Amino acid sequence: MLHTDLSRNTLRQVFEDHCLQAHAGVPGVLRIDGPAPGPSLGILAMTHGNEPAGLAAFYTLLQAQTLQQQLRCGRVYLILNNLAAGRRYFEEAQDLSFTAHYRFVDQDMNRMPEPVQGELAGDSSEIRRARELLPIYAELDAVLDLHSTSAPSAPMLIEIDPEQSPLQVPGVNVMLRGILDHLIGKALVSLCGQAKGYVLECGSHEEPASLLIAQEAAWRLLEQLDMVMPRPHAPSPLTIYQIYRAIIFPDESYQLQRILHSFECLPAGTLLAEGEGQPIVIDRESWVIMPPPRLKPVHPGSEFLYLASRETS
Ligand SMILES: [Zn+2]
Repeated sequence: MLHTDLSRNTLRQVFEDHCLQAHAGVPGVLRIDGPAPGPSLGILAMTHGNEPAGLAAFYTLLQAQTLQQQLRCGRVYLILNNLAAGRRYFEEAQDLSFTAHYRFVDQDMNRMPEPVQGELAGDSSEIRRARELLPIYAELDAVLDLHSTSAPSAPMLIEIDPEQSPLQVPGVNVMLRGILDHLIGKALVSLCGQAKGYVLECGSHEEPASLLIAQEAAWRLLEQLDMVMPRPHAPSPLTIYQIYRAIIFPDESYQLQRILHSFECLPAGTLLAEGEGQPIVIDRESWVIMPPPRLKPVHPGSEFLYLASRETS
């Protein structure tokens, strides 16, 4: 059952309740066991502290013990990833149109270092949290990481493994291919051992539509893994955007020429941004992916937006 009326207060309550859960001594993790053996699925919320869509998925699964009653096999871990950033977001964020400062505490939890012999080096808030979650991540056969975007956008699947069939979610008609190659660091799902990874940008933060997509995605993955009774649905075609470049400004003097919109098509030769060094000009027809609604990045040195070519499936 999907819930259309989730308020910020309800999401905050889901967050607070989940912070009190613990599995194997790790806070913010709840495990639900089915009556028969089966896959271990992890559903991840708030990898970024200002992206509460995953809490809507927790709500639909936990409300009235719905998942507990419907789970046919296996086990589901509901994991609140960035507890510290999420807490700051719920306690401090006033202007919900601009929450980028609550994305993380010390470093982006979706840009992790490469583990060395199973260990993560470093001592940030996010590294410490990932380190305590690693043993749980290692148990997963499949993982769904639920995100959202700062600017209005259609929901987008992030392709993790081209060999893997995509998650079918009604209302999700876009898939981004090749983005992992352009991230400065490893996506969090890469830490989840051999698990099949599914990452979904559900739409913009706190939009009611994004909260619905997150709920739908959680149920559809459970169905796809045969962990709950499948509901019929017609597969919808995906438009695939092949990411070929992340735009990272060389220094803080740079800014875009204008605000860009999600999936906007720019012709070859477009002057994208200027600063004290070389201007940034795009060399081919490109679609704009995940542009923030501003001219300069909040976090200098991060990927500010992506450029893609377009394919149809
Ligand atoms: Zn995110």
